Amino acid sequence: MALKLEKTPMRELDPQERRHHFKEVALGYTLEEAIQEAKRCIQCKKPMCVTGCPVNVQIPQFINALAQGDVEEALKIIKETNNLPAVCGRVCPQEEQCEKKCVLGRKGDSVAIGRLERFAADYFMDREEPAERPASPNGKRVAIVGGGPAGLTAAADLAKLGYDVTVFEAFHELGGVLVYGIPEFRLPKAVVKKEVEKLKDLGVTFRTNVVVGKTILIDELFEYGYEAVFVGSGAGLPKFMNIPGENLNGVYSANEYLTRINLMKAYDFPQSHTPVKKGRKVFVVGGGNVAMDAARSALRLGADEVHIVYRRSEQEMPARLEEVHHAREEGIIFDVLTNPVEIIGEEGWVKGIKCIRMELGQPDSSGRRRPIPVPGSEFIMEADIVIMAIGTSPNPLIKNSTPGLETTSWGGIVVDEETGATSKEGVYAGGDAVTGAATVILAMGAGKRAAKAIHEKLSNQ
Ligand code: FAD
Ligand code: SF4
Repeated sequence: MALKLEKTPMRELDPQERRHHFKEVALGYTLEEAIQEAKRCIQCKKPMCVTGCPVNVQIPQFINALAQGDVEEALKIIKETNNLPAVCGRVCPQEEQCEKKCVLGRKGDSVAIGRLERFAADYFMDREEPAERPASPNGKRVAIVGGGPAGLTAAADLAKLGYDVTVFEAFHELGGVLVYGIPEFRLPKAVVKKEVEKLKDLGVTFRTNVVVGKTILIDELFEYGYEAVFVGSGAGLPKFMNIPGENLNGVYSANEYLTRINLMKAYDFPQSHTPVKKGRKVFVVGGGNVAMDAARSALRLGADEVHIVYRRSEQEMPARLEEVHHAREEGIIFDVLTNPVEIIGEEGWVKGIKCIRMELGQPDSSGRRRPIPVPGSEFIMEADIVIMAIGTSPNPLIKNSTPGLETTSWGGIVVDEETGATSKEGVYAGGDAVTGAATVILAMGAGKRAAKAIHEKLSNQ
């Protein structure tokens, strides 16, 4: 039988309809579509896709189970290494990871590994899933700082090994960026909640509204009997450009803007308690996933015109191609090779944005061509909201409240790459708190490595 070169397409909401609401854009596979796609996998003897996955999901095995219609077995195989498959199936940059290594990608489309992973997890969203059984308790306590993908993964792996695990989370909800950053139209919050609930079944204790470094210190956690601490506190401190006008009303960091909308449900104000300004002409500065999410959210809040302002060309944009494509389909305007130099105000509010044209020079240390301002090319556009999505760094609270914890010049926690061990005895770290803003699956991989190292250390004591 001839090999099908194209991926089985996934249904999506119509761009003209979906730009007015927050419902999920990508609709997932049906069972028939999943089986059809799974049958494209040729079950390589040396499956490179597995090496492309930071948590080494046994991809050919789960796809084989799916090809035979055994969804339960497929999910069981995925969950051996990945506790958040419905999340990863939706937001992992598969095209840069497992799917990039799939041999079918050489002649046509790689197998849609992410879509299949999502299908297997979604299939059991409303069905009874075979429960994962926690190991018998070993009497040892581990504290986790932060309930994002890194912390939740470390917690799950340690709970499965019999540890008494407590997750301390600063917000009132668990999930980290999955709940406060990535919008509903890409990752429904009900999906995150469901996957988090499954961790509760493993016996993990969750303490929300606890800011470690303020409410309780890491040193105090040891005094309370925790034998190891994993820090997965993310990189939630936004960067700004330091240009005139950034303190005007109507200028947001993408983190604040998205947190207001996603976590605090500002789109529903005054039914919810948190407002957000609904702009007419919105400018989002940056070219990553965060910028696309902020722009598409602004559109859904009713903006007439939403621009992405990016200083390099579209080729250098770090956002996933799929996100750029979706944003463009919905009508987002891309002002590339453009950089803001001033935000213009009137009576304290944003009234415009002054930009300069850019051209690309020689590659810089990141390997991308350096953007250079074109002299005399400044111009002004009318604006009432400007959203800065140019990156984040770790919040210094943990560093400042934990003597002996070594950090880099930009605030990342210094760790041993293999184990996640920090310079402070018994303290491990991973995810964005170590790497700076990265990806969900890299954070999960770090959580897994640290859980393994904590287990090795505590079981030898
Ligand atoms: P986080 O998810 O940031 O979680 C850290 C948690 O720790 C938070 O809940 C925080 O409240 C808590 N915390 C912080 N300090 C303390 C403290 N002192 N005490 C207690 N708790 C604390 N990645 C992808 O792979 N695909 C995408 O499509 C994608 N899109 C993104 C879109 C947006 C808008 C953003 C912001 C990020 C996106 N990312 C994406 C990146 C990804 O979400 C992060 O890399 C990932 O969430 C990092 O996980 P983490 O557990 O290290 O940190
Ligand atoms: Fe299947 Fe592609 Fe992985 Fe080979 S590389 S096992 S074809 S998904």
